[in-house]
Amino acid sequence: MTNHDVIVVGGGTSGAIAAIAAARSGARTLVVEKGNTLGGMLLAGMSLIGALDAEGHWALGGYGRELIEALMKQGYATPPTGSQAGVIAQDPEMLRLYLMRMARDAGVEMLLHSFVVGAKAENDRVQSATVANKGGLEEFSAKIFIDCSGDADLVAKGGGEFKLGRDGDNAMQPVSNLFRVANVQLDKCFAYMEQHPEELSLPTGWTGTADSLDYIRNTPGVHFSSFNRLIRKAKEVGEFNIDRTRVCVYTFPGHVDVVINVTRVHGINAADPRDLSCAEIELQAQTLEVVEFLRKYVPGFERSYLVAMPSPAGVRESRHIVGHKTLVGADVLSGRSFNDQIGRGAYPLDIHDVSRDAGVNRKAKGAGISMQRVARSYGIPFGCLVPRNLDNVLVAGRCISADHEAAASARGQAVCMVTGHAAGTAAALCARDGCAPRRIDIATVQNLLAQQGAILERPPGSVRPRASLLAPAMPSKSPL
Ligand SMILES: Cc1cc2nc3c(=O)[nH]c(=O)nc-3n(C[C@H](O)[C@H](O)[C@H](O)COP(=O)(O)OP(=O)(O)OC[C@H]3O[C@@H](n4cnc5c(N)ncnc54)[C@H](O)[C@@H]3O)c2cc1C
Repeated sequence: MTNHDVIVVGGGTSGAIAAIAAARSGARTLVVEKGNTLGGMLLAGMSLIGALDAEGHWALGGYGRELIEALMKQGYATPPTGSQAGVIAQDPEMLRLYLMRMARDAGVEMLLHSFVVGAKAENDRVQSATVANKGGLEEFSAKIFIDCSGDADLVAKGGGEFKLGRDGDNAMQPVSNLFRVANVQLDKCFAYMEQHPEELSLPTGWTGTADSLDYIRNTPGVHFSSFNRLIRKAKEVGEFNIDRTRVCVYTFPGHVDVVINVTRVHGINAADPRDLSCAEIELQAQTLEVVEFLRKYVPGFERSYLVAMPSPAGVRESRHIVGHKTLVGADVLSGRSFNDQIGRGAYPLDIHDVSRDAGVNRKAKGAGISMQRVARSYGIPFGCLVPRNLDNVLVAGRCISADHEAAASARGQAVCMVTGHAAGTAAALCARDGCAPRRIDIATVQNLLAQQGAILERPPGSVRPRASLLAPAMPSKSPL
């Protein structure tokens, strides 16, 4: 049995930053990660969206921002682009190395290839987390645990309250994987899109303006969604059978490879290993179909080839913890602030087709993607990170206490880094002072976070030109 000040379960987008924050605040910190690296979904190669709100104010601050700015300085991340949603493209392999170095330098102890499979809890406190790895089973204890597993594994195993998916019917967003194809001639692809402007279209409900083809072509790192017409052609002859109408392409300046986001499987409960296995099998079959579709149908992709499938099945939604506070969709869209806010979010409210009945190989019944921009960043209450019935646990990342709508924004990478930073700093304070997260003096946490570069308040007004002054609107914005 070990004894740490803080144990972070899952070293992904939120967990890596949480561990860095806890260690930098002086806590003896262990992160337990089932993969071979920190980073989680952050390494899948998508762009960081919503680092700034649509009016141009930064929402991402603190240690997540420090990481991204370090990458920007060396040209491994782009300055924010995209006319509406503060998009930062990043080189995922360099991101991984920078993140690992940052964690090592902060003094984070990392236990990789290790899976938290259980928790022993007594009197509303997690006494230990059970970890499985090549060494067998081992118990790890800590003063404070931070659940950054994405699926709220520790909270669920420790008897904490959670909800699965949407209130009422437990419906969850579909899962998708991302993959990289190399040897893409983007100029040729853009020339084709110029001939077929109908190829660019907006997701349902998008409330912002769109990036024009010229803007996409001339702005390194902008991503785009297209090929609706080609998909229809391929569908007619049975060569594209996925329930999607566009392919989302993430580019990076100077790279000849792009990241593709188009696969989709509905009706998967990612907390169920059998469901997840079915999803992996189906997603890999879909990947094969898409790679062949791109080569056969899409100008510029004729000689492309698959180089990497970096992420396991990408889960958009599973468990949401029940916290002392719960963020709701209206809070996100109205840019609401809270007395106990510990940071801000601005990722769009991005809900993919949700259908309870649809499963592997079955068609979804929903309505594609609904994506609403966040004009003004919203505050994230500390209470959303504190499970209602566990006294020594904090939560960060996509499983914080949020309803189905709000979670569709809180799951964005920048927001996950923000909640990770806050949870790590608060956990270190709680461990030092021997206090439960729900009893912590929130002003002290907020002051510390502000000193660490976190953004708690949003300046008034807009720093962006009015929409009418932006590039002429041609339908495009990516479904993620
Ligand atoms: C297909 C897809 C596309 C997306 N596109 C975008 C985009 O373009 N832009 C954007 O900003 N966001 C995007 N997102 C959202 C975003 O990437 C994720 O929601 C976010 O990265 C999740 O962060 P997290 O810390 O909650 O989880 P993760 O980053 O997934 O980290 C969880 C970590 O915990 C580990 N883990 C899990 N369970 C255990 C356990 N029991 N024991 C030990 N370790 C464990 C995992 O291995 C992983 O490293 C996308 C998401 C998906 C699925």
